Amino acid sequence: MESIRKLFNIGMGPSSSHTIGPNRAAKIFKKNSPTAHRFVAHLYGSLALTGKGHLTDKAIKLAFEPLKVKIVWHKNKFLKFHPNAMQFEALDKNGKLIRHNTFYSVGGGKIIHEKNNKKIEIESIYKYTTVKKILRHLNKHDKTFWQFVEDSEGEEIWIFLKQVWKIMKQNIKDGIHKEGYLPGGLKLARKAKTYYKKNFKHKAIKYNSNLFAYALSCPEESASGSIVVAAPTCGSCGVIPGVLYYMKEQNKYSDDEILKALATASVFGNLAKTNASISGAEVGCQGEIGVACAMAAAAACYLEGGNIYQIEYAAEIGLEHHLGLTCDPIGGLVQIPCIERNAMGASRALDAAAYALISDGHQKVSYDDILETMEITGHDLSKEYRETALGGLAKYMKNRINKEEN
Ligand code: SF4
Repeated sequence: MESIRKLFNIGMGPSSSHTIGPNRAAKIFKKNSPTAHRFVAHLYGSLALTGKGHLTDKAIKLAFEPLKVKIVWHKNKFLKFHPNAMQFEALDKNGKLIRHNTFYSVGGGKIIHEKNNKKIEIESIYKYTTVKKILRHLNKHDKTFWQFVEDSEGEEIWIFLKQVWKIMKQNIKDGIHKEGYLPGGLKLARKAKTYYKKNFKHKAIKYNSNLFAYALSCPEESASGSIVVAAPTCGSCGVIPGVLYYMKEQNKYSDDEILKALATASVFGNLAKTNASISGAEVGCQGEIGVACAMAAAAACYLEGGNIYQIEYAAEIGLEHHLGLTCDPIGGLVQIPCIERNAMGASRALDAAAYALISDGHQKVSYDDILETMEITGHDLSKEYRETALGGLAKYMKNRINKEEN
């Protein structure tokens, strides 16, 4: 598994795979093409189908500035390796091709590029890459998940996590006070402020409306193109901060405890990234909101004193009950159902943590099992339900709006 520095990617919203990844790929290509006068960017698959709503063109143009880039949308073509593919061409002053390269934005801001048709391998710094082996190791050495992260990454990781938490908190502080509409054609009003400090009293419901406000703030900031932390993606960036900010407010946890909770969460995000996928274009929203919920559930369970088996169980529940969740964003914008889904993911994460804490932590289905299942289920989903905006809610609402307009 790679460093968690490559899991919690910090960058421009609204989509880690459609903005952070392409922006990063374009910057690498530009740096390696010092004699280029202009560029062409060919976008394929999901990048072509939802890239306009996801601001992919803006992210690429920013990376190539001040040089010009022509964007070519190949909406009906998917490259074999991954649905988020892009090919860049560097041209000289006469328009002659100097070099070209293919990149894949594989989720959470991570990119893989092909050089001479050879895929660049990832740098693994973790000794164990299944939860079964990690649990065995932790049990033997009487350690917990955040210690596994510290042992693998070194103590400097706390400086990085401090920065992650700082941005998450800032997104919440900014988002809960803003009003108005999000960019894009949906005319979707920001909601975080309307949920903040709302009188919300219901005997059967234990959390208050601030949980929703905090979980909504980050994806609303992301949808506006702000700098956010992909956790594990921009579309799902509100679940973990929402849960942690809310728990800190309610239970007065120290920032150090929150950082340990973030490290705990990172193990489950990293396992998902390594053994399955965190890309909506590859496996649907189960890989984004589902994984974010698993990570947040593990973090919440840790904060509430869960042992390693209960923490793993919380993560497993958080993902298991998102299996099959489709990705069908209306108009190709990361807004509906995405933003609300963060609030739902946050409340479900607290439920999953509570459920696991009541148990002895032993269950039939492990987090490893659920990741394998998610991967298979994701590939079984037809491509209409994998960030193409061609099926489900996106298709239904497009038809309904068309009918209303005619
Ligand atoms: S539906 Fe889920 S996976 Fe798809 S863009 Fe929205 S948050 Fe991402």
